[in-house]
This record gives sequence, structure tokens and C-alpha cells, in this order.
Amino acid sequence: MEKYPTRSKPDSATFAIPRRRLLGFGTVGLLAAAMPSLVGIGTAIAKPTPADERRLKQLVDEAHSRFATVGDGKNADYIPYLASVPSHLFGIAISTPDGKVIEAGDTTYAFAIESVAKVFTLALVMRESGPDIVKQKLGTNATGLPFNSVIALELHQDDPLSPLVNAGAMATVSLVNAANAEDHWRKISDNMNGFADADLPLNQAVYKSESDTNQHNRAIAYLLQTGNHMYSDAMEACDIYTRECSIGITTRDLAVMAGTLANGGVNPISGKRLLDKAYVPKILAEMAVEGLYDTSGTWQYDVGLPAKSGVGGGIMAVSPGNWSIAAFSPPLDAAGNSVRAQLAIAWIADQLKANIYAE
Ligand code: GLN
Repeated sequence: MEKYPTRSKPDSATFAIPRRRLLGFGTVGLLAAAMPSLVGIGTAIAKPTPADERRLKQLVDEAHSRFATVGDGKNADYIPYLASVPSHLFGIAISTPDGKVIEAGDTTYAFAIESVAKVFTLALVMRESGPDIVKQKLGTNATGLPFNSVIALELHQDDPLSPLVNAGAMATVSLVNAANAEDHWRKISDNMNGFADADLPLNQAVYKSESDTNQHNRAIAYLLQTGNHMYSDAMEACDIYTRECSIGITTRDLAVMAGTLANGGVNPISGKRLLDKAYVPKILAEMAVEGLYDTSGTWQYDVGLPAKSGVGGGIMAVSPGNWSIAAFSPPLDAAGNSVRAQLAIAWIADQLKANIYAE
């Protein structure tokens, strides 16, 4: 079995981009450690100070050492390739709005983005067609059922309810304005590359493994078509959805992609706008509602950050207007969310007092 390629770290010069906006760093947590004299007066800092960066580095290192030995969960195996990915891999990365990535563990290992891709194609459709179409055609509610549930479709006249379950994600792909299949794929991959500020590779071994075994998704695509919730050729949408899930990303790529959402739609490294600022909260709301599937509510209750997982073991979480965290480790819980990635993100978010529902 082909191994995922590992990408080396970009040259540090890539990150020497002047920052463009104030960094609040969430709340007192980080400032408390870094700048005790300013805590409590709501001071925003123009960019993370060296002390902030040291604090973030301590946090990612400590999260890595706390949770690396957690043995719960199991790699996804309904996509054969995913079962072969070494289960011990574990990476954590934080992206700051001034384009830095602070990381620990296996952050240059390229894994399959899987369902995290759904968020970025949703952003593309939002950009092309606006939030009303997203609400009407893709939905804004949780299914309360697993991400590939056919029962959810049966219960709702083949309406996917959310763009972040498989059905809704294929409908999302089908809504992209494209002249033909090639143009369709190019638009989706260019969009993801913009979010990552990288030329993300399609992992052919993952794509083959998924294409050989995606009969269930093909059935879902046809059900969407019968219910008039599919807006391009159903098999074209299913195939392009399968390809977007097979893109190889590193934990640091994922942090930057999430960082673009944390940074109001502007990539923190390239400075390019990928999404209108007004649409970002709508994407984050979709993530809060269905980002971790049937345990999304529990995640909001416990952690209080919009997040999105994929069965490749990646999870990204966004502190709106501030930073993002990505973590990757293949073993999943019963809902399909990485066990170690959830633990690491939850712990770091708690240390930074990042819960969006708290004052
Ligand atoms: N490609 C996977 C599927 O369609 C993605 C699922 C996921 O990451 N939850 O089943």
C-alpha cells in the first residue's frame, strides 16, 4: 500500500507576512500567561508576542504528551486505505492570524481530508450563490443520525438537512457552477488550495480505495436525485465528492485552512480573501450544528467551538476572529471523530478559555 507523502515545512520566510488585524487571542487565558498586567482590561494585541507564541507552543507540546498514549478508538476501515494508516500518528497545529503555525507531533504527515473538505466546498457555494440558496437547498439543521444515514433521507423526503453530512455534501458539490466535470473538479480543488495556500495533492491511492467502495454514497446520490435535491449529474457529484475527500493534507495545512475561517475569510499567510466576511459566521454555524455529526451537540456543550471532523482522523476548530486549531490522529470514536484530536483540541481550548458561549 502506498504511503502518504510527507511534505516538508515551508520556508519560514513564507510566514513573514505583516499582520492586518488585531488579535484578541480569545480571552484572558493566553494573555494571563503572556501579559499579566493587561488581563482584565479587554486589551487586544496587534499580533502574538513572543511570550504568546511560547505559551501556544507549551500548550501544543503538553496536549501532545498528555494524549499521545490514549489507546481508545479505531481507524476507519470501511474505506480500506484508512485502515492501513499508522494509528500512532498524532499532530497538533495552531494557526495565528499573522500567519504563524505553532505545532507539535506528526504535523507534516499528509492524511486524507475526508469530510473536513465539505466545509470548504460549502464556502465555495456560499461565495457563488449566497447564503439563501445554502439555507434553502442544503439546509442548516442536524440530522441527529450518522453522517451516511439513509434513514435521515427517508425521514425527510430526501432532503439532506445539512451540507456537512454525505448527502448534503454531494448536493453541495452539485451546486458548484461548472461547465463540465473537469471544470467542476478544478473549481473545487482551486478553492481548497486557496484556503490552505498550498497545492494540495489528490492522493490517488485513497481515491481508488474510496471509489472502489463508495456504493453506499452512490445510492445516496441517486436518492437525492429522486427527491430533486441533486443539481448536477448525480454520479459526477458523487465522484467529485469522493475526490475532494481524497485530498492529502497535513495538520499544518488544516490549521491554515481553518485559520482562514478564524481570520474572517482571509488566508492568514497569503492575505487573499476566500470568503466574504459576512458569510463566515454562517459556515461556522453549520459546523457547530453538524461538524461532529451525531455528537456535535455534546462537543458544543463540552468545548464550545465550531469544529469539523473527517474519518481520516483530522479535526479543525475555529476561535472566531482569532486562531484555529487542527489535530490529526487516525483512531475514531463511534461517531467517526478522532479520539486524540478531540481530546487535544478540547484541552487546549479550555486552557485558552476559548468557549464562544462564555463571556
Ligand atoms: N469519504 C467519506 C465518506 O463519504 C467521508 C466521511 C467522513 O469523513 N465522515 O464516507
